[in-house]
Amino acid sequence: MSTSEPIGLPDAPELGAQALPAGTYDGKVVFVTGGGTGLGRAVATEFARLGASIVVASRKPEHLEQADEAMAALGAPALTVQCDIREPDSIAAAFDAAVSRFGLPDILVNNAAANFPVPAEDMSANAWRTVIDITLNGTYFCAREFARRHIDANTPGSIINIGATYAWTGGPGFAHSAAAKAGVKNMVETLAVEWGPYGIQVNGLVPGLMPHEDMTDDIKGNLARTNDKDACQPALRVGRPRELGWAATFLASPYARFISGHTLVVDGANWQRRSLTQPEVVTVRDQMGKGPFEL
Ligand code: NAP
Repeated sequence: MSTSEPIGLPDAPELGAQALPAGTYDGKVVFVTGGGTGLGRAVATEFARLGASIVVASRKPEHLEQADEAMAALGAPALTVQCDIREPDSIAAAFDAAVSRFGLPDILVNNAAANFPVPAEDMSANAWRTVIDITLNGTYFCAREFARRHIDANTPGSIINIGATYAWTGGPGFAHSAAAKAGVKNMVETLAVEWGPYGIQVNGLVPGLMPHEDMTDDIKGNLARTNDKDACQPALRVGRPRELGWAATFLASPYARFISGHTLVVDGANWQRRSLTQPEVVTVRDQMGKGPFEL
């Protein structure tokens, strides 16, 4: 007899499971921006398990140390480089360091981004510019550096840009990040066409809500304001960072070579969610517990 209880989507296999053959990335070099924390580290981890050498680029020494530790625990060859992706010279220097240690990276994962919730009417010019500069400009500058080197060397490569679903829907409370991610998604489509003839595959990869211990206090605060996280998802569960890692290792693998210009969403269909009975509208100010707007 059916009980018809909602059961949600089954949970992911355990951390350490692999979908691809062992050694899929033997001899390959993967460059991950922001790979010392959260989802970037989860992605770097899955490539490392499959044999890749890993380069992690970000600004903060403590994050680079975390990446070193995570890769050492897996016995993966790794290089961590201090780099601010807003600065093309800093990116070039990080690629120079990668080349002299391992050779030209075969795969670039543009994961680094900046974000914090703020009502659009409160946002400072500096906050807007900073998020656009890191998330949109930085992603482009890294992609350009990678492509220039591959086009010059006449070698193939694969780029994965990590996005967000509000690229399609808009993101109340995240006007800066949503606009930047919309640009990142659009860039995937342009660059895949421009660089396909040079053997460079370009795809987007979008996580749904995947909580992790490295989330910034701003983002954790935002989650704390939300109802039960699992209950808010059609899957009746949030995503696991390793699920993004598995999708990334598939997208850059030999088994996905004809997939380019595509953005894959790994979010249990949360971004298509609509209510049969619409909930009442609550302003972003009220959702964030802010007082009335003052000029
Ligand atoms: P996170 O832990 O805050 O990681 C962001 C990383 O970017 C940090 O390692 C940071 O390292 C690096 N970074 C920031 N600014 C940089 C700069 N100027 N130059 C170089 N590196 C920089 O965030 P996350 O949750 O793992 O998110 C990873 C990606 O997934 C992002 O693109 C995010 O938009 C996307 N995403 C995440 C979720 C989620 O549920 N977690 C949902 C949707 C989309 P340093 O501070 O050392 O520079």
